Amino acid sequence: VVSFRSVEKSFGALKVLDGVDFEVARGEVLVIIGRSGSGKSTALRCIDRFETIDSGEIVVCGHRVSDPKLDLRRLRQDVGIVFQSYNLFPHLTIEENITLAPCAVKRISKAEAKRKARQVLAQVGLEDKLNSYPEQLSGGQQQRAAIARSLAMQPKVMLFDEVTSALDPELTGEVLKVIETLAADGMTMVMVTHEMGFAKGIANQVVFMHRGKVREAGPASILTSPATSELAQFVGTGL
Ligand code: ATP
Ligand code: MG
Repeated sequence: VVSFRSVEKSFGALKVLDGVDFEVARGEVLVIIGRSGSGKSTALRCIDRFETIDSGEIVVCGHRVSDPKLDLRRLRQDVGIVFQSYNLFPHLTIEENITLAPCAVKRISKAEAKRKARQVLAQVGLEDKLNSYPEQLSGGQQQRAAIARSLAMQPKVMLFDEVTSALDPELTGEVLKVIETLAADGMTMVMVTHEMGFAKGIANQVVFMHRGKVREAGPASILTSPATSELAQFVGTGL
């Protein structure tokens, strides 16, 4: 569903992605880990073409992302992304936040969009917050609402970039729980996270980025028995 082939990306003189390869099959959860600045967010943003790549190829749900003729609207319908900081519109209610894109982009009726909003809010356990404004919600609730908003577009792939790292520890669990349920329902996901325990439980594949390269990749077990000293150091087993 998502494939990276020899993907390279520089910001000026800084090579941020230096020949990155990976493949995510339908229903799989790929977790990207690595130190700050290793290129994790950039890799994720390239999937949704918030960044353009210099060379190599990315294919997502049949879209060739680097193709100049790419239908960006359709790509973004297929791929939902949730960032670290909640990106809800503060002046709109939760329901309005969720129905906005489906009405504007998918051109579905208001009534249909509202039905969908109720459904996705139930999925993240926020059915009672329909008419609240983002500022009336806790951080964890806002992040769950942001996930619901993505789900309303019925994406085929979800991307999560450190969605819990701005949250107080006691709110992290409820957001991870929602992501866990999505994975169990078969959603294809690529996520960047520092929650190693969570990664171990959910990842079908782990990609460890180091200086723009995939230094180590494999099943979740690489987190407990890393093959490279860099990953060992990162997970703190001290090889
Ligand atoms: P973190 O764990 O801190 O989120 P990351 O692995 O997600 O780090 P990236 O955000 O992908 O790292 O950034 C990789 C490198 O690219 C960093 O050195 C960063 O400063 C640089 N970078 C990212 N975005 C840009 C940009 N728009 N312009 C210039 N440099 C950028
Ligand atoms: Mg990042």
